[in-house]
Amino acid sequence: MKSLRRITAAALIAYLFLATSCADSKYERSTTAMGTVLTVTVVSMDREAADSAVEAAFKEIDRLENLLSLWKPESEMSVLNERAAEGWTQADQEILDLLETSLEFSRLTEGAFDVTAGPLVRLWGFHTREKNHLPTPEEIKEKKRIVGYRLVEIDSGNDAVRFANEGMEVDFSGVAKGYAVDRAVKIMRDLGVKNAMVNLGGNIYAFGSPAGRDMWNIAVRDPRSIENEIGVLKIKEKGVASSGQYIRFVEFENRRFGHIIDPRTGYPVEGEVLGTTIVAPDALTADIMSTSVFVLGPDEGAEFIKSQEFEGLIILDNGKGGLLVKVSGGLRDSFELFEADEIAIEYF
Ligand code: AMP
Ligand code: MG
Repeated sequence: MKSLRRITAAALIAYLFLATSCADSKYERSTTAMGTVLTVTVVSMDREAADSAVEAAFKEIDRLENLLSLWKPESEMSVLNERAAEGWTQADQEILDLLETSLEFSRLTEGAFDVTAGPLVRLWGFHTREKNHLPTPEEIKEKKRIVGYRLVEIDSGNDAVRFANEGMEVDFSGVAKGYAVDRAVKIMRDLGVKNAMVNLGGNIYAFGSPAGRDMWNIAVRDPRSIENEIGVLKIKEKGVASSGQYIRFVEFENRRFGHIIDPRTGYPVEGEVLGTTIVAPDALTADIMSTSVFVLGPDEGAEFIKSQEFEGLIILDNGKGGLLVKVSGGLRDSFELFEADEIAIEYF
């Protein structure tokens, strides 16, 4: 009896030690970046090293915001947009690479994702919220004339870019956050970090393990009321991103329009898809693809996911106040739906 008690006590001490050391090893800091919340979590016993890695990640994302933001008229990207319709314009190597990648995805999605959609996004007033009327069909037609990924030319030999039409712009709003997360992860890995998660406004990459567990838990929000969660994704060495019309939107004539535009029609996407979540090998792919699948819709979106090297969830309005969550086969073991009467799940 005595020895059993001793063993139990020893086990308890060991457990407490493990629990405290796990708790102690989690180091987390948040800030604002790229117009949203940035949180970096590092799991390491070396607090000082964790802190300088987080600092380096913050700095890298800040650097990218200064390079790519269209909110800053002096950013390299703003200057390039200003000049590229006049003729071949020299561009920063990193901008060229990101532009090449974005254009590849625009071709792959046949324009559902379009890195030149900026003028349409502006027309609807998502950036400024100054718009006071529903855009007219004429206004939309006029903007559609200057939107099109095929109208961007790149001369890789000379690191130059040219736009076919005046008024065009490259807007990295749907790519930059994912790209920034991947860059921050690269910087932290180079500094020797083994376990960490970067979350920039829902654009996530997680590697290694969190304290006390093997996989990182990523909450999947309820697109009807985002303070609630409908389930959890368990991931590691993956990028995750979610898109929806629930955070950024404008209202005209008592109707709500979300910030994701179908560049092929010029109108914000409306329909039964309320949210998409993509799990991909990197955060950039997840970022672009969550927006793309949202535009493609439930059937084409599911077909597209099946044809590519990533997985995803498509959350649909079931028309009766409930949800249907369509889940790609590869997530069968890593997505757990919380039980709720009005939420059904279906695999594709
Ligand atoms: P995300 O938040 O990643 O879903 O990206 C949405 C942002 O990308 C919007 O706020 C717009 O600035 C921009 N955007 C909207 N629709 C598209 C589209 N179809 N293709 C590319 N960018 C878009
Ligand atoms: Mg996205």
